[in-house]
Amino acid sequence: MSEPTSNPFARIPAVDKVLVAFEKAGDLPPLPQPLVTRLVREAVDEMREGVKEGNLDVGEFEETLAAIRAKIESLHRSRIHPVINATGVCIHTNLGRSPLSPDVVKAIGGVGQYYNNIELNLDSGERGKRGGYLETCLATLIGSEAATVTNNCAAALILMLKHLANGERNEVVISRGELVEIGGGFRVPEIMEASGAKLVEVGATNKTSLADYENAIGPKTGMLLKVHRSNFWMGGFTEEPSTEDLVALGEEHGLPVVEDLGSGAMVRTEELAPIPHEPSATEVLGRGVDLVCVSGDKLFGGPQAGIIAGRADLVAGIKKEPFFRALRCDKMILTGLQETVETYLSAGTDRPDLPLIKMLAASVEEDLRPRAEAIRDKLTEIEALGVTIVETIARCGGGTMPKAEIPSLALDLRPKKVSVAALSAGLRETNVPVMGYTAEDGYRLDLRTVFPEQDSILSDNLLDFFRKH
Ligand SMILES: *Cc1c(COP(=O)(O)O)cnc(C)c1O
Repeated sequence: MSEPTSNPFARIPAVDKVLVAFEKAGDLPPLPQPLVTRLVREAVDEMREGVKEGNLDVGEFEETLAAIRAKIESLHRSRIHPVINATGVCIHTNLGRSPLSPDVVKAIGGVGQYYNNIELNLDSGERGKRGGYLETCLATLIGSEAATVTNNCAAALILMLKHLANGERNEVVISRGELVEIGGGFRVPEIMEASGAKLVEVGATNKTSLADYENAIGPKTGMLLKVHRSNFWMGGFTEEPSTEDLVALGEEHGLPVVEDLGSGAMVRTEELAPIPHEPSATEVLGRGVDLVCVSGDKLFGGPQAGIIAGRADLVAGIKKEPFFRALRCDKMILTGLQETVETYLSAGTDRPDLPLIKMLAASVEEDLRPRAEAIRDKLTEIEALGVTIVETIARCGGGTMPKAEIPSLALDLRPKKVSVAALSAGLRETNVPVMGYTAEDGYRLDLRTVFPEQDSILSDNLLDFFRKH
């Protein structure tokens, strides 16, 4: 008779046995059962493969159970759910970019839950223009002839290229200094070529002259493109023609000039914080550019979207592109953007009541320090933790305003019995995970990006962690 423990296959539990054990213990996170079953089956299959290949030693049942439970917990944690952003990076692409205002969320909820007039003309009772009111709001806000909305700014760029650089005239002249990567590994040249346009790169990385553009213009040229360097800056020995000169060159040759602005500030950024001025779509159009595109969820402070603004004939043409249908926004995004744009329009010369704007404008001494002190006071009871308040630099992030350094305040945490890595991992494992950052051997929680109503969750999470460690 063979000893069961000597046969490694015999130790691999049956899927059912694992599921029954979990049900008995009743300690799994609330995941739908089919997901749990799938994960257990995968884990058991993996064990079998590992044993077959001779590189896995299957442990006791309890050990196997704990390993599978950890996988289930990790899967549960990966669901999209709220996270506290204590990184000090205001537009954090990994954390969903711009947070939405409660009014925007409420508007989205109302429209999502019921039927709505998205494509209904309530005057005639006939079919209506999708997002027509929003387009009017955007054109009014930006001060453009017309505007429209797509899935995101990358989609906006593709649509502009599809419309203006195609067929016999598919060449787009662009400076080598503007062939940027916009995050997530996506590069502007790749996005552009996906549209079928052919890039004609001119100049050098640091220097492009008007003559470089002019020499590249030929019978196949469809448009001139400027891409705003929103996520990096160039200093030193640099040169580029002004937008006005580029516009004049385009006019001379009968070519449209388009600018991909990306970040898309709608307020004067230099008045929010001691940070540089970020150009707005209004400004860029004021320089004579025919079309501009911006992101909805960067400095604009709204939901993910791409906003195209400029000449009415070009916007109308873009809306007729078959691709426009494939890249359009759904009712919830259109509603969220509508509410965001109305917030700007109603604010007039005041600061619009949007979380991102408030976050950028928060005062270190008046807003952040009292909160930091209150949290620190709550944490003094934790003997195994040293807490100090430190001055830090917060960032706009999301590939916007790389030079902007926003003075901020953070709690600097020094755990005495566990490592900083264990503390940061522990804070990510809570119901409302906290993302901070490591600096100078401490774990830092920057309060600029934490909503004041989250302060108590932050301190509760820490109290909880140190009760267990
Ligand atoms: C961020 C960015 C984009 C892409 O915007 P998405 O809305 O994320 O698609 C395009 N161009 C520039 C210059 C950007 O900064």
